[in-house]
Amino acid sequence: MMTNDTLLTLDTVSKAYGREAKKFVAVRDVNLQIRAGEYVCLLGPSGCGKSTLLRVIAGLNPATSGTVLYRGKPLVGVNPHATIVFQTFALYPWLTVEENVEIALKARGVPQTGRRERTLKLIDTVGLDGFESAYPRELSGGMRQKVGFARAMAVEPELLCLDEPFSALDVLSAEALRGELMELWLSKSIPTQAILMVTHNIEEAVFMADRIVVMEKDPGRVLTEMQVTLRHPRQRKDTAFQAVVDKVYAAVAGKTQPEAEALGTAPGQPGKTQPLPAARLNALAGLLEKVAGEGGGGDLYKLSVELVLELDDLLPIVEAGELLGFATVQEGDLTLTPLGQAYADANILARKELVAGRVLRLPVISWIYETLQQDDNKRVAEEYFLDKLQPDFGGLAGQQLDIAINWGRHAELFAFDDDTDELFLEV
Ligand code: ADP
Ligand code: MG
Repeated sequence: MMTNDTLLTLDTVSKAYGREAKKFVAVRDVNLQIRAGEYVCLLGPSGCGKSTLLRVIAGLNPATSGTVLYRGKPLVGVNPHATIVFQTFALYPWLTVEENVEIALKARGVPQTGRRERTLKLIDTVGLDGFESAYPRELSGGMRQKVGFARAMAVEPELLCLDEPFSALDVLSAEALRGELMELWLSKSIPTQAILMVTHNIEEAVFMADRIVVMEKDPGRVLTEMQVTLRHPRQRKDTAFQAVVDKVYAAVAGKTQPEAEALGTAPGQPGKTQPLPAARLNALAGLLEKVAGEGGGGDLYKLSVELVLELDDLLPIVEAGELLGFATVQEGDLTLTPLGQAYADANILARKELVAGRVLRLPVISWIYETLQQDDNKRVAEEYFLDKLQPDFGGLAGQQLDIAINWGRHAELFAFDDDTDELFLEV
């Protein structure tokens, strides 16, 4: 449904990188609308295509298929109504704060008279009054990001796009800057009509957004959307706030996949080779122990807080637990299977055997193991495996091999020789 205040409409938008056989679908069939007055968050694990979508919306990258409408008109080329603030804003190190902001006005064609006045007002707006003649290197990360905001606002974008704008900052600066941005936004002291912010931080999304669009990867897509109606300023410690966080957590963590689909096929075989989740198995051991210690089940959100892990780091570990059959996930709760319980109770030796049995069910691991078995010296060059992983994983083949080696070593099946760059069989 399109109304008068609809700024942006994405209709079955897909974006693929590369060509033909090497084509990689970064986001598939995304439908999204942004209306004036809304603060929308795109939330999802890294690699699900959040930045890709922002670039499509800003017109920096065209969509491969589907339609992008801005105020009802098809978007052609760079979107003059949208600006992106990146995680680390590229400031000119040789220019002062004032010059860094003024250059944005100049680029926009604002005449010299009045430019200085507007520059100073913008600097004041973001709370950098008194730092006009400072150089970027003299500023903290939080202050540099404020200059970034000031520069983005100089353009007076109707749609302000923020790509993980707080994630490169320390905790205190990030929190302060979030508060300041909310104040600017809620008091309507900036002409911006809508904000679209990318984040992988659930609490941040619940703290700021009117609506959260939850994304998932492989392929990048929208899973679900939820409205957040809590009043501002929002208090993280409120039970209502925590309830929303829990609900979003449940949507993000999703449900355990059916087994056959989760396992996939070996490299070089027909069918899809499933990627291994980017998790170290000692981290999984830590998670299983923790959950076992709490009676065999736990709320994922609470676990992430207690283990001091970001969602991006916890989810692959949880995924590894599911893949190995040690745990299941439903509605944001993790439950140990009997096998997971047995693992947590076992001694180190028994654990290795348990894990060896489990990881050998994974086509990638058993393929590496069998390849090494068949070699006369029980040693094969890393290059061989990388070549075979290439068609399925492209630039991520190296990462996949690293994970496989970590899992193989953990199970004492095989390991990597740094001196010769070979994998070898553990005996
Ligand atoms: P996010 O911002 O959610 O972490 P991205 O939009 O950066 O995700 O990336 C989505 C997927 O597209 C990733 O798998 C990434 O490797 C891939 N990708 C992003 N940019 C390019 C590019 N220019 N060429 C090829 N693949 C890309
Ligand atoms: Mg990104």
